[in-house]
Amino acid sequence: TAKLLEVNNLHTSFKTEDGVVPSVGGVSFTVGRGETLAIVGESGSGKSVTSLSIMGLVGSPGKVTAGEIRLEGKDLLQLSKREMRKYRGNVISMIFQEPMSSLNPVFTVGNQIREVIQQHRRMSKQEAKARSIEMLDRVGIPGAAKVAGYFPHQLSGGMRQRVMIAMALACQPKLLIADEPTTALDVTIQAQILKLIGQLSKEENTGIILITHDLGVVAEMADRVVVMYAGEVVEEANVFDLFEKPGHPYTIGLLASLPKLNEQRERLDSIPGTVPNLLRMPGGCPFHPRCPYAQEQCTKVHPDLREKASGHQVRCLRMEEVSP
Ligand code: SF4
Ligand code: MG
Repeated sequence: TAKLLEVNNLHTSFKTEDGVVPSVGGVSFTVGRGETLAIVGESGSGKSVTSLSIMGLVGSPGKVTAGEIRLEGKDLLQLSKREMRKYRGNVISMIFQEPMSSLNPVFTVGNQIREVIQQHRRMSKQEAKARSIEMLDRVGIPGAAKVAGYFPHQLSGGMRQRVMIAMALACQPKLLIADEPTTALDVTIQAQILKLIGQLSKEENTGIILITHDLGVVAEMADRVVVMYAGEVVEEANVFDLFEKPGHPYTIGLLASLPKLNEQRERLDSIPGTVPNLLRMPGGCPFHPRCPYAQEQCTKVHPDLREKASGHQVRCLRMEEVSP
């Protein structure tokens, strides 16, 4: 049977005054039913553009220029805008970092969830209202019936993110994309929200794409991990192999920048250097200006993804010599 999601050779680029920026340059991965795939990378790595491409939400001047995005075998890139609207919020849902920007300030949260349900399900207003309160209750909001009558600004950041999760899961999507879902929240609330997403998706066998720059979150949530750099996948592995036997110098750097127990959590940008300007990509391996293993050949040859072990792929010319 087909995987829940198969992304094949996805290319998404943006037209700018200075030229065409290839934000996503030939990305492939799969997500199984009930599986959590983490996509990790710094900002500018292409991880958010990848998720927007799957949602059909890349707007002008951006464009998906090649590839396939197959959901249960069906290529979403072949759907009309109208057909895609039937999928969004229904078969595929997304939660973002900042719920305030996705919630409408002038409608109560209950009404907003009810709207989403009625858009996709044949339900009376009363039934949809009951369902929205049930969802608010399921995401752990105390006094759900009362809170349904609140406006977004009457809720805390953590409660708003719970509302977003209730809305995203109200139509029982097969795939949930969570883009930095907890970055804006404090650490205790973060852990609660992640636990909630994990628990609800397990109950419904939902596939999850978790976009994050936080390897601590990856360790807690993911089954498999895709590491992106400069618009490409540089490593893919199950979560154990990624942490135990990382193969790409970039991944090794990310793991080395992970704080030890009891240290304050840091961001990934503690690797020296920055993501290259995609308009002026260095020749050869895009990571070579930052790579401690780089040699002459790395400035000339663009590496392919190669198999390091079963289910473990690495894009590095020196894979055999590199070790953490
Ligand atoms: Fe580093 Fe060379 Fe491997 Fe690129 S190909 S990651 S520069 S060793
Ligand atoms: Mg982002």
